[in-house]
Amino acid sequence: MRRRLVLFPLPLQGHQTPMLLLASILYSKGFSISIIHTQFNSPNPDNYPHFTFHPISESLLGCKASNADVIGLLNTLNVYCVVPFRDLLAQILSQNAVKEPVACLITDAMWHFTQDVADNLMLPRIVLRTSNPSSFVAFSSLSYFRENGYLSAQGCQLEEKVPELPPLKMKDIPILGTRDLEATYGLVCNMIEKTKSSRGLIFNSFEELEGPALAMLQQDFNIPIFAIGPFHKQAPSLSSGLLTQERDCISWLNAHAPKSVLYISFGSIAAVSEADFLEIAWGLANSKQPFLWAIRPGLVRGLDGPAPLPTGFLEKIAKQGRIVTWAPQDEVLAHPAVGGFMTHSGWNSTLESICEGVPMLCFPCFGDQMVNARHVTDVWKVGLRFENGLNRDDIENSIRRVLVENEGKEMSQSLACLKEKASLCLAAGGSSHKSLETLVSHILSF
Ligand code: UDP
Repeated sequence: MRRRLVLFPLPLQGHQTPMLLLASILYSKGFSISIIHTQFNSPNPDNYPHFTFHPISESLLGCKASNADVIGLLNTLNVYCVVPFRDLLAQILSQNAVKEPVACLITDAMWHFTQDVADNLMLPRIVLRTSNPSSFVAFSSLSYFRENGYLSAQGCQLEEKVPELPPLKMKDIPILGTRDLEATYGLVCNMIEKTKSSRGLIFNSFEELEGPALAMLQQDFNIPIFAIGPFHKQAPSLSSGLLTQERDCISWLNAHAPKSVLYISFGSIAAVSEADFLEIAWGLANSKQPFLWAIRPGLVRGLDGPAPLPTGFLEKIAKQGRIVTWAPQDEVLAHPAVGGFMTHSGWNSTLESICEGVPMLCFPCFGDQMVNARHVTDVWKVGLRFENGLNRDDIENSIRRVLVENEGKEMSQSLACLKEKASLCLAAGGSSHKSLETLVSHILSF
C-alpha cells in the first residue's frame, strides 16, 4: 500500500527550498506528499501539482511575521502554530488513514514544538536540518560552551581556537555576538533536545564532505542519521524562490569569458551595514573584473527602499557589472563564465558553489555561516574569508587573488575533487545513494 508523508518546512528561503527538494526526492521513491505551510512566505503550489498543500491560516496565528528578526519570528511561530498545526495534522491523518496511511512527519529542526504534537498523535517524526552536520555539532555543543565561558569571549579571545572543535575559532561559535543571546540560546537548545527525541535526522550533505562531523553526531545522538545530499542534484530545479528570478542575467553571462565573472549574493536574510555595502560597491568597481551582484530588498540593514549605490556608480560600472534583485543562483553558479562567488556562506549557497566548483570569498554574518566559512577556508581550502570586516582594498585584492592569480586555480583543483565526490556519492553504491535507500526502508518500517 502507498504511504503518505507529511512535511512541514520553515517559511524561510534557505529552509523551504531544501525541504521541497527532499519532498521531490521522496516522491520519486514512491511516497505521496502533503505539505503543511504557513501563509507567510508560502510556497507556490502550482510548481508542485503532485503534492497536496495545507496552509495554516495566518489569522489563526495571530502574529505579525517578518524576516527582519528571524529569532523572534521562529520563537513566535513555535508558540502560535501549535494548535492550528495539531488540528490540521490530525485531520490529514484521519482523512488518509484507510487509503494512504501517513508513515511519518518530517519537519525542519527549528519546528521543535512538533515533536510533542507528533508524540501525542503517536506519529513518528523525522527531522531535516537544512544547515550542515559541522555546524550542527557546534550548535549541539552550546551548553558546554556556555558552562566553559566561551559564550562571553571578547577581544583577542575571539581569535583563539576552540580546543574541542578544531579548526573553529571562538568567533565562529554560532550564536556569539547575537543581539538576543538568551532567546537564541533557548531556541537552539529546544531544537537540539527535540531532535534527540525524534526518530531520525536528515542532512543535505554527504559523507565524503563531512564524515568527521557525521561520526561525532552519530555518537552524541541516539537516532539514525542520514546524509543524503546534495539535494539539488537529485530533484528537478522547480523555482521555489520567494522572490522572482531575473533570468536575463544568463544572456549577460553568455557574453563573458570562462571563469572571468564574480557573482555576489548574501542569500535571503543576511544584511550588511550601509558602510559595508559601499565598501563592496567600490571594491567591485576598483577590481575592474566583471561582476553580477544580487541586491535583494533588505540587503542593507534598516533600509526598505532602493539600495544606496554611490552617485555615479552605475555609470562607472555600466560595462563591467550587472545588478539584479534575485538571481537564478543555481544556474549562475553552473555557468562557465562564473569564476568566483562572494557569499555570506549560507549552507545552500556553500553546497551549490562546491557542486559547481566555484571558489568562494566568504563574509559570514551569523549562525551556521561562521562555521561554514571556517570549513571553506581551513578544511576544504576552497575559498578566502574576510576575517576583519569589509574594506574596498581587501575586496579588490581578494577578487584578484581568486579570479586572476594562481590561488584561484589551486582552489579550483580542490573543488574539482569535491565536485567529483558530490557526483559519485549519488551514483548507485555511493554514500548518499545508500543512505537514501536506508532512509526509505526506515520510514517503511514505521
Ligand atoms: N538564491 C537565489 N538567488 C539569489 C540569492 C539566493 O536563488 O539571488 C538562493 C540560493 O541558491 C540558495 C538560497 O537562495 O538556495 C539561499 O540559501 P542559503 O542557505 O545560502 O542562505 P539563507 O538565505 O538561508 O541565508
